[in-house]
Amino acid sequence: MKILPSIGETQSCCHEWKRQGKLVGFVPTMGALHQGHLSLVRQARLENDFVVVSVFVNPTQFAPNEDFSSYPRNFQQDQDLLQTEKVDLIFAPTVEEVYPQQHNHTIVEVSGPITAGLCGLARPTFFRGVATVVAKLFNIIQPTRAYFGQKDAQQLAMIKQMVFDLNFDLEVVGLPIVREKDGVAMSSRNAYLSLEQRKSARVLFQSLEMAKARILDGEKSVSYIVSEMKQMIESAEQTQIDYVEIVSSQTFEAIATIQPEQRILIVIAVYVGGTRLIDNLQLQIS
Ligand code: AMP
Repeated sequence: MKILPSIGETQSCCHEWKRQGKLVGFVPTMGALHQGHLSLVRQARLENDFVVVSVFVNPTQFAPNEDFSSYPRNFQQDQDLLQTEKVDLIFAPTVEEVYPQQHNHTIVEVSGPITAGLCGLARPTFFRGVATVVAKLFNIIQPTRAYFGQKDAQQLAMIKQMVFDLNFDLEVVGLPIVREKDGVAMSSRNAYLSLEQRKSARVLFQSLEMAKARILDGEKSVSYIVSEMKQMIESAEQTQIDYVEIVSSQTFEAIATIQPEQRILIVIAVYVGGTRLIDNLQLQIS
């Protein structure tokens, strides 16, 4: 397994693989890897000749008041895990390597309903930070396929839109959310939670499951379902709701009434203590 901090060397290596007609799978991450990340890596390993994982905590997607400097970093453990998964190349650049002029003058911004609401409201510069760095990574690696988690559903939809709009020659593969035994979605940020907060975090998935049950029972009113979810979430210790919504899983536009044939996404963001957690559940209405 190669570990390269340099853009030039990574580019040469990946472009040589492509020149030989090999399939290159790419998994972008911010490190502090867990089984959610590794599910993407395993799928990439199954479907491609070479697998590249980037480990880069991207400063431009964090607002000044957010957790860039305290974001969990554990590069030695990441390396060990990726070695076990038979990854071919870890691209692990420094901030200076990716942003030699401190920041990009060229910004990639996906506009419209996919990025306007939900996390786009709470974190107004987040999506452009992600789109810009992912576009850079796609240009450096030029993968055949890139793998993203449904855990960050809005981010996944945005990347698909960017790839379509900017004609990137690659396939975006979205994969399901990997959860802990008690339903909590795996996240590097779960490491911030105290024991008590970790217990409270269960309420996110519980509220999604409750909403799903209501919908399968025939409840049509989104405002009713959302208010029940909010009550449930607020009853857990140290929780503060950012958003609870039901949107179209294609357009991310808000839905008022559950109707046949809809593909919906129940999406939530909740602060547990100071930690902002997101989760979602996709449902095809019959
Ligand atoms: P991050 O390191 O948080 O930027 O995540 C890197 C990739 O892993 C993104 O595509 C995430 O959606 C994905 N990911 C993070 N957590 C999970 C999870 N619990 N299940 C599936 N994918 C995940």
